[in-house]
Amino acid sequence: MRRNYSKIGRTLCAVLLLFAVALTGCGKEEDVATSGTAGGGSLSRAEYIGMLGDRFGYDTYASEADLFTDVTSANAYYSQIQAAAEWQVIDSGEAFNPDGAATLSFALESAVRAVGTDDIAASGAAIDMGSLADFYVSNIAQIDLSDPEASIDAATAAQVIDYAKNYGFHLEIPQITEMELMEGVKTAQEGIRLNADGATGVLPAGESYSVGDIVYLDATDTSLARAVLITGIEGESFTFEEASLEETYAYLNIQGSFEGTVVEAVSASDGTNVNLGQEIYDEMKAYNMRSEDGDYTLTNLANSAKVDKSGNQIVFTAKFDVQKSASNDRVKASSNGQLVVGVKNIRADVKYESEPFRILSPKVVECRLHFDTEVSSELHGSVAASIPLGEAYIQVWGPLNIKLMLTAHLGADGNISISYTTKNVLTTGWRKGAGLNKSFDSTPSVNFEADATLTAEATLLADLRIGFKKASYSLTNAQVTSGAVAVGKMEADLLGDQPTCLDLQLYVPLRWGVNQEGCLITDINKNWKHSAVIWDSGSSPVKLHMHLEDWERTSGDVCTRTDPIEQELTTPEGEPLEEINPFDFEPLEFDFIELVSYAMYLDEGESMDIGFESIPEGYSQSDLKYEVQDSAVCSVSNGKVSGNAPGSTVVKISTSDGMFTVSLAVTVNEDYSVEGFEEL
Ligand SMILES: [Zn+2]
Repeated sequence: MRRNYSKIGRTLCAVLLLFAVALTGCGKEEDVATSGTAGGGSLSRAEYIGMLGDRFGYDTYASEADLFTDVTSANAYYSQIQAAAEWQVIDSGEAFNPDGAATLSFALESAVRAVGTDDIAASGAAIDMGSLADFYVSNIAQIDLSDPEASIDAATAAQVIDYAKNYGFHLEIPQITEMELMEGVKTAQEGIRLNADGATGVLPAGESYSVGDIVYLDATDTSLARAVLITGIEGESFTFEEASLEETYAYLNIQGSFEGTVVEAVSASDGTNVNLGQEIYDEMKAYNMRSEDGDYTLTNLANSAKVDKSGNQIVFTAKFDVQKSASNDRVKASSNGQLVVGVKNIRADVKYESEPFRILSPKVVECRLHFDTEVSSELHGSVAASIPLGEAYIQVWGPLNIKLMLTAHLGADGNISISYTTKNVLTTGWRKGAGLNKSFDSTPSVNFEADATLTAEATLLADLRIGFKKASYSLTNAQVTSGAVAVGKMEADLLGDQPTCLDLQLYVPLRWGVNQEGCLITDINKNWKHSAVIWDSGSSPVKLHMHLEDWERTSGDVCTRTDPIEQELTTPEGEPLEEINPFDFEPLEFDFIELVSYAMYLDEGESMDIGFESIPEGYSQSDLKYEVQDSAVCSVSNGKVSGNAPGSTVVKISTSDGMFTVSLAVTVNEDYSVEGFEEL
């Protein structure tokens, strides 16, 4: 019988998959299986340090000279051995003996040193530098140490290293916070207020301040730390400019584990239309969308996003609606969906120490960011878009903060619901005398329901910054793109003697880059940056293949056709799919309206300018549109807000074309000015 063509088109075929990937165990007191013959032959010292350096990210060195007489650049593990010496994972000396056997005691000792003996001691564990192998056995994982000189194989080495790494992730480092202010810098007393115009403020009663004073204000729940230079005083009002880091600090030493508190969050678009998808859509169509889609053009992509922050987490929600019309006017179609991206359980282990009186000359910059990414999305129809979600500031301590920027990449053809979670630990660091240390560890789990092709990825840029507002600098930054890609191929036999086949392949890709954006570390050495694909369709720990015939999954996912479908993860030109991935390290362009403060407090009858931090390129402040939710509370004219009556409302600020929007919360207080009070 003849098969019905409509069945091929958009029949919803619900395929439910549920799976999770568990990494090797965690926690302490694990048993390391002793060598035996499992992993093949024994490792040389150079090979072991090569493995250790790769896992811990010690593979970039600073020294131009060979650090050992018997390890030259001809050695396959030269980078890791040089870096390990600089990071004191191994002792520097005359000779390293690279070809000697890696003994158990050497392996355990250098694994403990790779974690960082200072950090271990700081965490409160009793550690004796003379017996690090014993420390490993009693604190990290159990291993038979009766023959410390036994050589180890690759399988044992991998376990030794994994457990050490995991132990390091769980270390809580106590906080050391030393902040030496420059002479004359004052710490703000309670009651001082900086207005949302970024230029004026109100002094607390009874405190004496003078023009020229620099005032440091610690972070609050809704604002990062600030330092301002008082430029004028009139009664209780004053004018200010942002103070620079060098004017404010003589010395900074900030170390420890901090819970990341999200203090500011900005959504990239708020009920705004963004027409961003066409180029990526075309590219995706070229290799993994059905040919019938060639008739369609993407005419509109509406995206609205909202942001929720609380404590150490932030969640962005975007809804979009894509209208398509066929060029031959025969078919009209649309797609829509919702995307939720959350970054949760944020914790930062940081170290920043400056040279005395040279605040931007660091001795050490290290950041280990722990965070979970949760993405869930439901898509219907064909869509491909890069959706900027927004940014958030996470207060660490004093002038140290982390800026997170998030964007989502979506491409789908069909009906898809996906959710995935990744638990991540991102490490990047530099110390005087050593190179760049970097590593990224991620544990994914995915739920997936689809009858089609999909790409759903989130890119996160984490930027460790120091300073105040405009006068702030990136110390180190890293960009991570993770998500899920499902490639579906459907083939129908219209003559009717073969089943309709749907072949699906799913994998979780992961790419990252360190210091791709310029920062203090790349200012010191422009080579201290890095980018790589961690997982692709071949190496991903989550990989899945499904085969459906007439909408039923076949046994063993085998195709029963006499001439089966070849499912290739390649482009029509035969290139590997990853290599043309349009989302590969796209620079994150979050060019949106940023305000000095997203909350403004006014007295009744008072007027205040809105303080703009930045406006997207190609737009000017004078062209912005203002929309007041409750005009009884305030009104806005030319960027100046006037308080009409006590209450709270929201001012929506947009570019004239509606591409960029931001919201300012306005609270008008009753006029508290006391009668009889006279300004001096
Ligand atoms: Zn088949």
